[in-house]
Amino acid sequence: MKVETKAIHAGNKQDQSTKAAIQPIVLSTTFERGENGDYPGGFMYSRADNPNRKSLENVIAALENGADACAFSSGNAAGMSVFQALEPGSHIIGPDDMYHGLRNQLKLMFKGILTFDFINLTDIELIYNSIKRETKLIWAETPSNPLLKLCDIEALAHIAKEHQLIFAIDNTFASPICQQPLSLGADIVMHSTTKFLNGHSDVSGGVLITKEKDAFWEKIKIVQGYGGAIPAPFDCYMITRGIKTLPYRMRGHVANAQALAEYLENHEAVEAVFYPGLKSHPQHELATKQMLSYGGMLSFLLKDGEEKAKQVVNNLKVFTQATSLGGVESLIEHRYSVEGQDTKTPKNLLRVSVGLEHIDDLMADLESVL
Ligand SMILES: *Cc1c(COP(=O)(O)O)cnc(C)c1O
Repeated sequence: MKVETKAIHAGNKQDQSTKAAIQPIVLSTTFERGENGDYPGGFMYSRADNPNRKSLENVIAALENGADACAFSSGNAAGMSVFQALEPGSHIIGPDDMYHGLRNQLKLMFKGILTFDFINLTDIELIYNSIKRETKLIWAETPSNPLLKLCDIEALAHIAKEHQLIFAIDNTFASPICQQPLSLGADIVMHSTTKFLNGHSDVSGGVLITKEKDAFWEKIKIVQGYGGAIPAPFDCYMITRGIKTLPYRMRGHVANAQALAEYLENHEAVEAVFYPGLKSHPQHELATKQMLSYGGMLSFLLKDGEEKAKQVVNNLKVFTQATSLGGVESLIEHRYSVEGQDTKTPKNLLRVSVGLEHIDDLMADLESVL
């Protein structure tokens, strides 16, 4: 089946007792056992599993063409479960522009447990030189936040295979509609479902998807079940509901982002635009090779510096000045001031999550302040 069909059907189970067409929310934390002590409904206790969580995991695994998925209460909890599944003393190679929430998690919570190097993952030689005997995981993020840099998924998968490393990708910025890393050789994909998958900026969640149900995946299942950072049934229902329109939403996000990127690139107040769909993007060719479409995120630099950037975000009417991404409404953010002092983000950069409003209104809003 195609993604549009999977998005609607792979996460919905008709209720056999009421014949409700839409799967109901099951709030019960416990499930009745059979006469011989088994679990005839297939569920036992809600930390271990829940019907709405199962449906969410099924639909996301189907969209990423994975063998299985584990849902969590946030993207950070999903990422953390990969790190927790590693043996103590393991070494991780991650990107120098890794999502700051996960980079800080490693630095603040895994110090003394894991070691890590945050490097430029577009530099293949540097990656080879950074691999040690203890290296177990390459963690990549493409396109990256907030500069929309790409790394070559197939090339990284090749290195990982050569050295028997686990290769995981944070696919949040792209969404499974725009990029499917498991098909390009990744072992594990992570999403913050808070973003495009839920798509309405009203639920926190995260998910991991695996290519194979191997020994490492079993460890991740242990972290999910015993660590217990599980999403509530209502949240799972909401994300499963959001996913039904994901393929169509992404088409709108991508079309608006492409048009907005081209508009900004030709604007005299703008110094540079970062969007993989622009011919001027230094990795446009790679983007065309490994992405199915170019995504709904872009960032741009203002010629008149940080002051102008702040003036722009403060005077827009349609865009909301807020962090996060992937909702139907357009968001804009001065990224430097959220990321803290060790960031490489330029001070005159604005990051945009391009929403589904009419493109004419988005352009008119920007035109009025630029
Ligand atoms: C938001 C985000 C995360 C973290 O997800 P939460 O749901 O906020 O915990 C991880 N990676 C990327 C790229 C993100 O945008």
